[in-house]
Amino acid sequence: MKYISTRGQIAPISFTEAVMMGLATDGGLLLPEKLPMVDSATVAAWRNLAYPELACAVLSLFIDDIPPADLKELVHRSYSAFNHPEVTPLNQQGDCHILELFHGPTLAFKDVALQLLGNLFEYLLRKSGGRMNILGATSGDTGSAAIYGVRGKERINIFILHPYKRVSPIQELQMTTVTDANVFNMAVRGTFDDGQAIVKQIFNDLPFKEKHQLGAINSINWARIVAQVVYYVYAALKLTGEGRAATVDFAVPTGNFGDIFAGYVARHLMPGEIGQLILATNENNLLTRFVLDGDYSVGKVAVTSSPSMDIQVASNFERYLYYLNGQSAERTRADMERFAASGSLHFDVAAQARIRADFASQSASEAETLATIRDFYQATGYVLDPHTAVGVHAGLACRRSGVPLVCLATAHPAKFGEAVKRAIGRDPEMPASLAGLAGKPTRCEVLDAAVATVKTFVEGHAL
Ligand SMILES: *Cc1c(COP(=O)(O)O)cnc(C)c1O
Repeated sequence: MKYISTRGQIAPISFTEAVMMGLATDGGLLLPEKLPMVDSATVAAWRNLAYPELACAVLSLFIDDIPPADLKELVHRSYSAFNHPEVTPLNQQGDCHILELFHGPTLAFKDVALQLLGNLFEYLLRKSGGRMNILGATSGDTGSAAIYGVRGKERINIFILHPYKRVSPIQELQMTTVTDANVFNMAVRGTFDDGQAIVKQIFNDLPFKEKHQLGAINSINWARIVAQVVYYVYAALKLTGEGRAATVDFAVPTGNFGDIFAGYVARHLMPGEIGQLILATNENNLLTRFVLDGDYSVGKVAVTSSPSMDIQVASNFERYLYYLNGQSAERTRADMERFAASGSLHFDVAAQARIRADFASQSASEAETLATIRDFYQATGYVLDPHTAVGVHAGLACRRSGVPLVCLATAHPAKFGEAVKRAIGRDPEMPASLAGLAGKPTRCEVLDAAVATVKTFVEGHAL
């Protein structure tokens, strides 16, 4: 399996090269040359596999340059860090099948991909004799999942910027209580956007990037997408088959379009078993307007109780755009140039019909999000986190009769306890792993929001 860029300006590369490259060097995103599809015999053979075995089977369709025994070891080690034997269990509550993706070390779905990515980086760097300094900015969830993915690993240092005192106390502790020698938390006196802008500028300094072998961990990395394909397959296999439904629908709380794009790849793999993909947005509903009206134009970021979805420009959107453009890199490149210049794209009637065949969509206001948490709790006793509630709201609005609905639960409610309390009048139950964070030793550097300050710090602590 070779990988190409959505902008068509690089020669095909291997999976390993794609993982190490992150963003394609021509500015595009990396994709498999051809999306795989499996036959019914393969689906049948997959039905009774445990999660790690299924992960190996699915991943090996996309990875042909890592020996199967090594891949198996990486996968098993990655998912042994989860606190549930099924890794991503399904939990039926009322009419919904909640796919719990929060059983990893930081209690959000990003662990599913970042545990694997951390182990992959370590494995590939050991083979090549290389080193990597990961640099990233976070508003909360990605930073802690990335830190837990690489803590204590050889040949990797990680530098994560978060806005000083502007992440939740739990999110701050999840990052700063990791005191491994290779982890550097930087609290920047400013906003998340300040941190993000600093990181962008540093990545644009190509000599600095090269000198320190800077690596990125955001969801433009193909390995993150492919790791997420697995749980769509896992859930679909559990709910379909003899005596059960033919097909299942998925509701996906969406920010950067990474998770729902993994669903798109999974449906291509098993178009029989995976039906409708319901793209759920909060008040930052750019992607819902795209699906319903063919209008992709950036607005102002609204602050909501589902902060990991407070995003206007979805970094993975270009991957879908490439398929919407009939796999034309020229058209995709032209679209992205137009978008960079104007901040908007409009799609014609034919394209709109294709988009609506690929996705359903619905956005949730703040009031609807909190009402969903409250109503769901009253009906079932189950506590949704605000991101998951956005997905459940959309899922219930778009559901088809007779088709099981899987709602992706992307975070544990205790991570967003304040919003949950506003909805149901009490704090969600605190898992032991979070309760134990208070009082632990912490390590964090508080810095001014200036490129030079951050560069000096990275330079002083880089591998
Ligand atoms: C990152 C995140 C999302 C959005 O996922 P995308 O892949 O960016 O669309 C949703 N919920 C939670 C809790 C997240 O951390």
